[in-house]
Amino acid sequence: MTELAFTVNYAISARSLCRHCRKYIDKKALRIGQSVPNYYDEDNRGWDDLTYWYHATCMFKKFDEDKPRDKKIKCPDDVFGMGYLKKDDRKTILKLISDANVKADNSFRQFRCLCAKLSDEDTSAGKTAIVSDFLKTGNGGTGFKGDVCLLMKFLLPDVVNIVYNLTDKDLVKLFSQIFGTNLKAMEEDLEQGDVSETVRVCFDKSKTVTPLKKSVLTLQEADDLLTSLSCVAKEGEQYKLLTKLVARCTSNDLMMVVRLITHDLGINAKAKYILGGLHPDAYKAFQVSQNLKDVVERVQSNTLHCMPGLKEEKTDKKTGHHHNKSDDPKQGTSGSSDSMNADVCKKTLVKRTGEDEGQTASTKKCKTEPSVSFPPSKIFTGCKIFLPVATDKFKELKQYIIDCDGEILDETSKGTATHIVSSKGKIRTGVSKAKVVTPDWLWQSIKRKQLASAKEFKP
Ligand SMILES: [Zn+2]
Repeated sequence: MTELAFTVNYAISARSLCRHCRKYIDKKALRIGQSVPNYYDEDNRGWDDLTYWYHATCMFKKFDEDKPRDKKIKCPDDVFGMGYLKKDDRKTILKLISDANVKADNSFRQFRCLCAKLSDEDTSAGKTAIVSDFLKTGNGGTGFKGDVCLLMKFLLPDVVNIVYNLTDKDLVKLFSQIFGTNLKAMEEDLEQGDVSETVRVCFDKSKTVTPLKKSVLTLQEADDLLTSLSCVAKEGEQYKLLTKLVARCTSNDLMMVVRLITHDLGINAKAKYILGGLHPDAYKAFQVSQNLKDVVERVQSNTLHCMPGLKEEKTDKKTGHHHNKSDDPKQGTSGSSDSMNADVCKKTLVKRTGEDEGQTASTKKCKTEPSVSFPPSKIFTGCKIFLPVATDKFKELKQYIIDCDGEILDETSKGTATHIVSSKGKIRTGVSKAKVVTPDWLWQSIKRKQLASAKEFKP
């Protein structure tokens, strides 16, 4: 008998029953066994454990349904027999493990657990260590496999500062309607001080909606709903979105969602110490660029040291000699998976095009010249610009915006724009808070090498 709780092999007969789908496992089919205490051994005579068999995919479906504390396969070392499998089957198991880890790392629950740990830690250095450790391990122990950009965005709600048009009183009012709870009672509870706690308690007591028992919310889903929430101002629309959120939440999830809305996670950690867990220079870099996405991307691609402001400062300190201090490949980047890079951080970084891999640290020089020589600066940092394709010189403008660190939005994400370019005069923007500007605003900003006032360029 093996010490491990899980064994993978091929069914020797067609007589084993899958404990998840309740079908017999075909002879020679890939199966995973989980050993469980032998409940026949009532007198503790030391009988061997029982093995429950599962189709490989069914095993992981069961993990999804299990409690967070239950034993799971998180890395290949957790399963006995991997070495005896055919190559393709080994790949199948590895893929199942990796998918499960990505899923766990992107779960809202895991984010909540991280916040709880940060909240319990008193020292700033300790908080940095917790974030760093979280990124280095992740669910599977080999690094955070989730979306680092999103995680950082959620950990720094006061810095990212998404505006929700919702005061504590608005929240209590809306949730009292959703929960079917007496508004006065909720307002009285709010006087205790913490709106997130009021919402949690009343959610648990609600007679109209029942909190989920097990957390299923993902960071992406929470982000989508919160982004939508930030784009609406009418009570009816806020009610609809919050109702949608409530239906996906445990009471603890909802409490944390409310904390995100009110920009206070209760973890008492400044951006400096959170970002410090991502990379020792991440906070400095963030101060320079004010662009979280960019900083995370640079950490993941090991190009943080190429950031102009950051590099100069270092060169000065180190008597003109540029040391590649931030080149620690394991620091914070261990969680970077290609898919994440592609999915979340789609923005092209011109600064990175000058990267030359093979060079040694001491000779490595960062070509910080963008692909177009003019304009060179980060004029549009933080700007999410909706630029209609019909705009005159669209391609040229688009390139400038990207080169100057701006983000181009398409029709699908227009609602999150900070600026909407209109060459046709005044337009309706609906609930969006975007500033409507003429194409001249872009040209003037580029020419002046700084963001022109949107007021000057109203259509
Ligand atoms: Zn099955």
